[in-house]
Amino acid sequence: STGLPDVRERTLVAIKPDGVQRRLVGQIIQRFEQRGFKLVGLKMLQASQDVLSEHYCNLRTKPFYNSLVRYMTSGPLVVMVWEGHNVVQTSRTMVGHTNPTQAQAGTVRGDFSIHVSRNVIHASDSVEGAQKEIQLWFQAKDLLDWDCWDQISTG
Ligand code: ADP
Ligand code: MG
Repeated sequence: STGLPDVRERTLVAIKPDGVQRRLVGQIIQRFEQRGFKLVGLKMLQASQDVLSEHYCNLRTKPFYNSLVRYMTSGPLVVMVWEGHNVVQTSRTMVGHTNPTQAQAGTVRGDFSIHVSRNVIHASDSVEGAQKEIQLWFQAKDLLDWDCWDQISTG
């Protein structure tokens, strides 16, 4: 370890179809930007069943799994990679409890949702999980290297 904070930690955040449909994309991105995280990848897409079964592989046996996949394929997602110190854990705090009835005001779910089956947003739950999810949803070439970019833009 260098003793410096790990500013290169990354997480996967996805705005779910209800969030896109309700025009919450801008407000959600604004929260992550104003907190101080760097956006390193962004795309809007219709998720495939295959990618979702990988993404939610730990939930395949749950009774709500099929309705979860129907929900997640009901419209486009906005999928993002955010970078910064402790971004995995801090993003989970910003997103709030899985069940919006238990999510605190000030969190995305606590401010924008009322039911667990339409909870607006996803964020990775661990550093290892984030690495798997980023590889699942993005190609390395589509993620920005901010160190390179800062050199180019500042000369
Ligand atoms: P989180 O998204 O907070 O990490 P989980 O990984 O446990 O939560 O679950 C993934 C997603 O599955 C949740 O965000 C929610 O969309 C859905 N989900 C979880 N539990 C339920 C439930 N009891 N009924 C319906 N959908 C659920
Ligand atoms: Mg989860």
